Amino acid sequence: MTRILVVDDSDTARALLARTFELAGFEVSIARDGAEGAAAALHLRPAVVVTDLDMPVMDGHQLLRLLKSEPATAATPVVILTSHGEAPARFWGVRGGADAYLTKDGDPAGLIATVGRLAAAAPAPAPEKAVAPLGPLDVLARVVRQLDASLFRSTILNSLLERGLGTRDLHAASRAILEVVAGIADAHLLAVGVTEPDAASLDILIARPTSLRATDRFTAAMLAAMAVPAGIAPDVAVTGSAEGDGDADPADVVSVPLPMPESTGLLAVLPCDPPTFAATSGTLLSELAPHAGAVLDNARLGQHLRELSTHDGLTGALNHRAIVELLAQEIERAERYGHTVAVVISDLDHFKRVNDAYGHLAGDAVLSAAAAAMRRALRTSDTLGRFGGEEFLAVLPESDLATGLRVAERLRAAVAEPTSATVLGRRGAVTASFGVASSAEPGRAASADSLIALADARLYEAKAAGRNCVRP
Ligand code: GH3
Ligand code: MG
Ligand code: MG
Repeated sequence: MTRILVVDDSDTARALLARTFELAGFEVSIARDGAEGAAAALHLRPAVVVTDLDMPVMDGHQLLRLLKSEPATAATPVVILTSHGEAPARFWGVRGGADAYLTKDGDPAGLIATVGRLAAAAPAPAPEKAVAPLGPLDVLARVVRQLDASLFRSTILNSLLERGLGTRDLHAASRAILEVVAGIADAHLLAVGVTEPDAASLDILIARPTSLRATDRFTAAMLAAMAVPAGIAPDVAVTGSAEGDGDADPADVVSVPLPMPESTGLLAVLPCDPPTFAATSGTLLSELAPHAGAVLDNARLGQHLRELSTHDGLTGALNHRAIVELLAQEIERAERYGHTVAVVISDLDHFKRVNDAYGHLAGDAVLSAAAAAMRRALRTSDTLGRFGGEEFLAVLPESDLATGLRVAERLRAAVAEPTSATVLGRRGAVTASFGVASSAEPGRAASADSLIALADARLYEAKAAGRNCVRP
């Protein structure tokens, strides 16, 4: 016969319920409070537990959480039967894992039907899982242990969200996640990877000295698992004390997907002691995963927003405000350290004709190809900005006029190179004219505006001199 455990502190309610279930053909066991209920459920292994909420010693919520966290009873359906229909009690019951939440004023037939359905759907209790009879102190100890574990989880989650949601930088968010995980799991290496349609970032934390070979293999495995689209170079950042002689087997890597709406996230850990890790931290990682995914997505969105506000949508170069701001910063830095800054302004030649002959869309494509060609020709320390319509400003830190001229000449050649004009076909050679100035020129107040004005005047000299050339 199917055994039901009824837990209620009211003698009347208990008797009434026991009678109702017996008449419906169930075998009924009873308990008078949560602690008794827990001991009985763990020992007797009923098919379904029906419990009241308000009870002395241990209430129904605590009983529910304990039963759901104990392996012996985790799969046992629990029905909360209460006079409390209020939202908070219902919320807590559902969050605690209640399989049904019914009120005492409801129809007994509905209760029987619900219990019957749950009993039929529940897996048969495994007899070997039954726990020997427990005293009240044993039950209490289990409750405390379970509370402690959930407090531990909430605290970890809290620190993850607190640290991770404060940043709008994907790398900073990834590092926050890695540090929180490293704080709860003994690991050699940890990694967070995010793959977007047009970008990929990988952060690796070396938590304990690890051999270079193991670190390299871990990185390679991570990059392979991230499925980075072809043509995209992942942005890899490594933190932590690098080399040591600690070796680790990459076969021991534990990884969990970090769910994100528009990209793919992955968290991987190379534990120091794989069996211990599996026993203590494995499920914790899966529990953290959705929250870590939310942290990464938040940072990704924030980063995109920042990029949108500082970058030009057509060419991907910095926008006017951002490049002028950068120039002002570089001038300040140069003054502080006794360096010089050079700027190069360019303007595409006869660009109106391109628009007139091929249309505005083709003009846009030429603009973005010219920007890409210039960016490729710049050194990594230099930055390109879209200054106006078809005018670009390159900021060259730690450069004098001679260096600026050399760079400008490279830019001129890069734009004029036929491959950069493929968008227009063979007929469409595009060229640009260039003006160069440096902050070290005598008699110049070094400000962003004056430097730009000087370079601009020289650009017009280049135009006057026949275009497709560079003027200092
Ligand atoms: P010059 O050699 O003297 O510079 O001749 P130009 O035709 O390039 O003359 P100017 O610099 O005065 O004109 C710039 C033209 O660039 C005007 C405008 O139609 C075009 N332009 C500006 N921004 C864009 C854009 O975003 N897309 C397209 N397709 N054209 C643009
Ligand atoms: Mg022009
Ligand atoms: Mg112009």
